[in-house]
Order: sequence, then structure tokens, then C-alpha cells
Amino acid sequence: MNTSSLPRIAVLATGGTIAGSAGDASKTAGYKAGVVGVDKLLDAVPALGSVARIHAEQIASIDSKDMSVALWTALASRINELLAQDDIDGVVVTHGTDTLEETAYLLHLTVKHAKPVVLTAAMRPSTALSADGPLNLLNAVTVAASKDAAGKGVLVAFNNQIHSARDVTKTSTYAVDAFRSPEIGVLGFVQDGRVEFQRTVVRPHTVSSEFSVTDEWPMVEIVASYAGVSRVTVDALVAAGVRGIVVAGTGNGSMHAAFTQALVDAVKQGVAMVRASRVGSGHVMRNGAANDDALGSVSAGTLNPYKARVLLMLALASGVDDLQRVFDTY
Ligand code: ASP
Repeated sequence: MNTSSLPRIAVLATGGTIAGSAGDASKTAGYKAGVVGVDKLLDAVPALGSVARIHAEQIASIDSKDMSVALWTALASRINELLAQDDIDGVVVTHGTDTLEETAYLLHLTVKHAKPVVLTAAMRPSTALSADGPLNLLNAVTVAASKDAAGKGVLVAFNNQIHSARDVTKTSTYAVDAFRSPEIGVLGFVQDGRVEFQRTVVRPHTVSSEFSVTDEWPMVEIVASYAGVSRVTVDALVAAGVRGIVVAGTGNGSMHAAFTQALVDAVKQGVAMVRASRVGSGHVMRNGAANDDALGSVSAGTLNPYKARVLLMLALASGVDDLQRVFDTY
């Protein structure tokens, strides 16, 4: 086979369970994430050679529970550099599952190219019986090498499905079909080398996003509302100089009365407040379960609290005044 005409895909490894190792092949929970290097991950998938020419880089070797904003900056910047090269046709990022949805959405808003960027991961370490990483990696490279994947923003290829970075979320602590896009659903499928899109992404991203990755991340934290919640956390965050607070509210973004007063006090001090929901699906309507006009808050729509935090950080970093416009747009 003449491989010189195959697309050239950069595989950027950051760690995670896909690069995890356990002493025993029967172990799928007790293992160390992020210890297997990118070359070994690629060696486990010889079929990659007939899909793409691979350029590999080890960006980090972490358990994604420890993802940092500094690493986000480094990753997004490197992807933008690589995609600016004529000899790179797409990027795959291997990542841990725990914060994959946050990194994916961050990249969706800050990568400045239409070429495909695809994240993938694994629920079982590389040493496990029935490890899911090798097939997920093959499928991710297959999607990144597909012309059909261009212009759709950052994608997540997992368990034969293709999700939009905006909508996907981890929904299981152990299952190999852990990733879902609640209510909105998958964009398409990848199986046995065939990439099939069923729908597209309508909200702006990548080349039409107004945001860029930054070195100066504003402090934005998430607090939850629940039975008996006190105002202690919100007051402590304000004292610590927080610039934005995302509330993981009950139901349609509702908030306990005692806690609401603390948030109103925070808003009066210039803290941006976004109402999301802890429910896991559905949207939070402006002036629905809480009066945003009176509270000075913003509703997150269908973004979960973790993704709402990403958008709020980028919006504050770029000096956006009308935060509701941003949440209604992206
Ligand atoms: N803790 C791991 C991580 O996110 C879990 C995984 O990758 O599945 O890096």
C-alpha cells in the first residue's frame, strides 16, 4: 500500500486511563493513569498505519482529574501551531475521561482552524482484558483523517460514537459507553473505517468563536445548591477574590433561599453569576426558576456547570460585557 498519500494526523497524548497500567489484566478500577507513553499506545494499534501517517507528541502524562488551566493553554496553543502547518491534516488528543468534556469544550472555543480535532480516551487501562483504548484511538484517528469531520468543531470519538465537544458528558463511573450527549444525541458513528455523520453543529465554534486561549485565567468556581446549604462557601470565594461563580442549581437552576442571598451579595460586589443545573440534562431557562433580571445572573442554557465554567472563564478573560449573549450564542 502506498501510504504517502494518507492524511497526516498529529496524536497529542496527555495521559488518562487510555495510558493507564495495572499489575493485573483483570483490574479495571485499581490502576495508575497516564503512565504509558504515546509510542506504546500507537504500537498497540498497527491498523493506524493504513489510516494515517502519524506525528506523535507527549504533551503531558497526567490523570485528567489533575488537569490545569496552564496545561489547557499549552495544549490549545500547540494544536493551533500544528494545524497552521500545511503538512498536518488533523489532530487527535488522547485524554483521561474525567475532565475530557471540559478540555474538549475549551478547545472547541479556542482552536482557530477548521481541520478536524478529535479527543478520545478509555474507561479501561491499557493493560486490561478488553481494553477499549486501542479501538477508540483507531476510531479517533479515522475521524480526524476524514474530510467529513472538518468544520464541525472539536469532536469526541468514543465507543464507536462521534459527539460534539459542546454537548458530550461523562455519565458513568465504569461503563465503556460512558459518554453521552444528553437529549441532543450523537453527531454520528465511526466503525470499521467508516465515518458517518447524521447531523451537524449549529452553534459557533473554532474559526467563528470570538474567544482565544489565554495565559491569564480569571478565578471562576462552581458551587452547588442542596438541602441545608449555607452561604459559607460563596462568602469564602468572594473573600478570596473570585471573578465568577457558576451555580449547579437544583432542577431548572433553582437555588436555596439562604444561599441566594449570598450570591446576590456577590453580584453586588462585581462577581459574575451563572445559573446551571446539577440535574445532568435539560436547559436552564433565563428568568425561569429564578429571576435573573432581579438577581443579576445569567442562565447557562444546556451547558452543564463544568462547561459553563469554561465559557465564563473565556468570556471574563476577553472582557465580554453581555454574558447572557455569550451563553445564548455558544
Ligand atoms: N482518572 C482517569 C482520568 O481521567 C479516568 C479515565 O481516564 O478514564 O485520567
